[in-house]
Amino acid sequence: MIPLKLDILEKSEHKLVLVVEGISVEMINAIRRIMLTEVPVMAIDEVIILKNDSPLYDEIISHRLGLIPLKTDLDVYKLPKECECGGFGCPLCQVSLTCEVTNTTNASLDIYSGDLKSNDPKIVPVDPFIPIVKIDKNDKVIIEAYAILGIAKDHAKWQAVSNVAFKYYPEIKFDTNALKDSDENNLVVKMCPEKLFELASNGSLKLKDDYEKNCTLCKSCEKNSGEKISVNSKEDVYIFSIESDGVLDYDALIKKVFEVYNEKIDEFVTELEELDIES
Ligand SMILES: [Zn+2]
Repeated sequence: MIPLKLDILEKSEHKLVLVVEGISVEMINAIRRIMLTEVPVMAIDEVIILKNDSPLYDEIISHRLGLIPLKTDLDVYKLPKECECGGFGCPLCQVSLTCEVTNTTNASLDIYSGDLKSNDPKIVPVDPFIPIVKIDKNDKVIIEAYAILGIAKDHAKWQAVSNVAFKYYPEIKFDTNALKDSDENNLVVKMCPEKLFELASNGSLKLKDDYEKNCTLCKSCEKNSGEKISVNSKEDVYIFSIESDGVLDYDALIKKVFEVYNEKIDEFVTELEELDIES
């Protein structure tokens, strides 16, 4: 077993790619599944439409509102079922967002997510330019919406990440001296679907920087070089990539994943202790 090690391969506002070493495939898959379906985030769950002059039905507008990603603060808010109010709705488990727009211009007007006014300045749409509906001149829309925490196991609108996936860490090995045939080298370069190979000035084959990030372990180079190139996956090393729409910071997201993970283990141990195994 290799020791646990983490490294950042890529980090931007919407994407985090890590190299994870020293854990089993079952464990990294459990982390992936919790991240995808069990980390709570905010989403609109109840909508009261007081006026709707737009061409869209109330139900369609409600559905569109539910899918707007909202910035989430897990330190303040609780899941309704865990809240002291019993899920009835209180400032600890619910945020209200209102939208009142009248089109006083002489043309049609777009209503965007930024037109939703939240009663908590920290719980606002991630992007203020998500279109909700378009209204004609003199038309009016008045909406009252309530956002609560939820998990993606119940509805995809509560998904904390846009995507999360892992793959084995690829290891491509070859001896440049054994690869002298220029036709064969050109074939390897041409046939790699991710274009990870290039030819050096002397015609020899070389790998591009960061090839690990894009290699899909398809082994096309192995076949096209007559097995002179070997492609293998490193045992217990993975490339773990998270795509986020920005509802949660990566720190808060990862911390919550392990909180849920530990809760599950605690629950398992408690259940196990209640069983009388020894008798
Ligand atoms: Zn409450």
